[in-house]
Amino acid sequence: MIKRNKNIANIKAGYLFPEIARRRREYATAHPEAKIISLGVGNTTEPILPHINAGLVEGARRLGTVEGYSGYQDEGLPELREKISSVFYGGKFSIDEIFISDGAKCDIGRLQLLFGAGVKVAAQDPSYPVYVDGSVLAGAAGGWKGKGYAGITYLPCTASNNYFPDLAPIPKNSVIYFCSPNNPTGATANKSQLASLVDVAVRKNCILIFDAAYAEFIRDASLPKSIFEIDGATSCAIEVNSFSKPAGFTGVRLGWSVVPKALKYAGGESVNADWSRIASTVFNGASNIAQAGGLAALDPEGLKEIRALTDFYLGNAKLIRDALQKLKINCEGGDNSPYIWAHFPGRDSWEVFSEILEKCQVVTTPGAGFGPAGQGFIRFSAFGHRADVEEACTRLEKLLDK
Ligand code: PLP
Repeated sequence: MIKRNKNIANIKAGYLFPEIARRRREYATAHPEAKIISLGVGNTTEPILPHINAGLVEGARRLGTVEGYSGYQDEGLPELREKISSVFYGGKFSIDEIFISDGAKCDIGRLQLLFGAGVKVAAQDPSYPVYVDGSVLAGAAGGWKGKGYAGITYLPCTASNNYFPDLAPIPKNSVIYFCSPNNPTGATANKSQLASLVDVAVRKNCILIFDAAYAEFIRDASLPKSIFEIDGATSCAIEVNSFSKPAGFTGVRLGWSVVPKALKYAGGESVNADWSRIASTVFNGASNIAQAGGLAALDPEGLKEIRALTDFYLGNAKLIRDALQKLKINCEGGDNSPYIWAHFPGRDSWEVFSEILEKCQVVTTPGAGFGPAGQGFIRFSAFGHRADVEEACTRLEKLLDK
């Protein structure tokens, strides 16, 4: 019989969210009367707004016509790539620097094919699990050692550094994963912080994979929405982004990556050319219905809907943040991001997760699931119906019960 891929065997624990779902099911089975509310996963809950939805419907209708039918579009519809360049990047990128995908997570997984096994990796700690777990699957992370993987340089983001890491430990010639606004901490890096990140990436010959999946939640106009707002980034960075959270496309599946032509490997070869090769080899393009929805999302009317939808979730975030602050629980995020990162100093985060589930029947996400520095934290997600969020906020007061 074939032996198991040792990289899979190397993964320390089950994926975080199935584990949370398992614990929720276990609680629900033991307490069938409980009305559990989830502020746990980052899954969107609100319907797709009318203009964007009409784009999806129209995309499906056109497929049933001779003139409107289309088949494979490996790197994406040219008009969508052009629109992404003009709406998000001021037209700075040509369409062959923008690749349409079925989502940012899938792209992050596939991007690792660019670097192969054994590449050095640095990632924020805590961070969105696919950066580290995907590196383990790609054979880049080494085995589990103590509190983390031997081949990963963890960059702790804590209350003491205002959730922006010390960049000094980043190894030369490494792949750096960085997410802003951050999942899970909700912290958003400012321009000078991102400039220092780009500076380190350039000086140390690293490639920075910048995840901007929550950029549309930024309300403070001084905060960058893209790494390409920073001088020098086109020679060291790839950006991944997504329609999932801003347009409610978590189930529709549509994202993109920007791989500038200026980005080169150590030997001078083009990263863009390799990414194009990978995209056409192991990916056959995003759904053309989803892309029709994406085009509608970038119309002026669609952009207004994105603003309204993200405003709604930010309204939820404010309710959660206010409820936690009333309980004198320190937290980060929630102002330019849909996540609130609540500090329970000295506590085990799975234990706090269980306490909140048992006392309040509210599902959250234990910070330790996002990396060693997440211990002692709980992530609250603002994705939920308003009435559920309000009810959950009221129930959180039960945390004061002994
Ligand atoms: N990047 C971050 C930081 C996320 O939190 C998520 C989803 O939660 C994704 C990417 C996934 O995006 P997509 O739905 O486009 O795969």
